[in-house]
Amino acid sequence: MFETTIAGSLPKPGWLSETQKLWPQWKLEGAELAQAKKDATLLWLKLQEDSGIDIVSDGEQSRQHFVHGFLEFVKGIDFKNKVKMGIRNDRYDAMVPVVKGKLKLKGRVHAIEAKLARAHTKKKLKITMPGPMTIVDTIADKYYGDKVKLAFAFAALLNQEARALERDGVDVIQFDEPAFNVYMDDVKEWGIKALERAAQGLKCTTVVHICYGYGIKANLDWKKSLGSHWRQYEEIFPALSKSKIKQVSLEAMHSRVPLEFIRLLKGKDVLLGVIGVASNKVETPAQVAALISKATKYVPKNRIFPCTNCGMAPMNRDIALRKLRALSAGAALARRRFS
Ligand SMILES: [Zn+2]
Repeated sequence: MFETTIAGSLPKPGWLSETQKLWPQWKLEGAELAQAKKDATLLWLKLQEDSGIDIVSDGEQSRQHFVHGFLEFVKGIDFKNKVKMGIRNDRYDAMVPVVKGKLKLKGRVHAIEAKLARAHTKKKLKITMPGPMTIVDTIADKYYGDKVKLAFAFAALLNQEARALERDGVDVIQFDEPAFNVYMDDVKEWGIKALERAAQGLKCTTVVHICYGYGIKANLDWKKSLGSHWRQYEEIFPALSKSKIKQVSLEAMHSRVPLEFIRLLKGKDVLLGVIGVASNKVETPAQVAALISKATKYVPKNRIFPCTNCGMAPMNRDIALRKLRALSAGAALARRRFS
């Protein structure tokens, strides 16, 4: 009961890349960089285990950014001539690469970190990838000419890598879809279908992570504009509950999402965000346990997995670590309360 996990990313050590940045530059290159990525992956595996996290991840130490870490392995994309594009419905501008030909994987994407992590932990292992809709919202297209076609082209590639990760022994494959909170009509029309295409044939646990973004200024400003009740989940959860995806990772702590919306995820496991990533204030175990208790009013206890609201990549490393400890201490407190 109340097995803990994290949304995915963790801060990179200062010897690997710039810190507290969403798009950090690597500090090394070539073979040295490859080794440093592995070392950072092992470091975070150990720290997650020591913090008491039950379902651990590679912490996304091998990728520069959660979307582009996948795109770098795709043929048909021009990374040299990036264009400026407003993303997440123009919430912020990003320099994005351009699709210029038929998409194809160059080879394995996350094999190195997945196999390394698998060899060094006996805990359940999660690997995350961007979801098709979020990818399409983070790239310009001069080839497919149609958003849905482009999304399904990416979904096929995600599926190819996901199946390989499953063969590597990964227990949980998560697709990150922050765009689901932005384009709710598209989610119902084709977003969930594209997601199911990405997860097709997988026997391992599948998750979709839907959040209100990292704690960067553009997201904080956007959240201010959403009013006192964030109702995006209310629109998409009923459709998601009918999907083939087994778990939904969502934001709850310090969030204006009415918690009762999780009731709409009938039949799904809920990865309950009990740790905020937008503030450096570390939650107390009592706060975490209280939120878990509240969630049990709406979702059966055995379907609740305490988690972080979102990735911690841009956070201070020590604060992230203290938050992991609060997550697991809070879950332990809730377990004692309910056992
Ligand atoms: Zn997120």
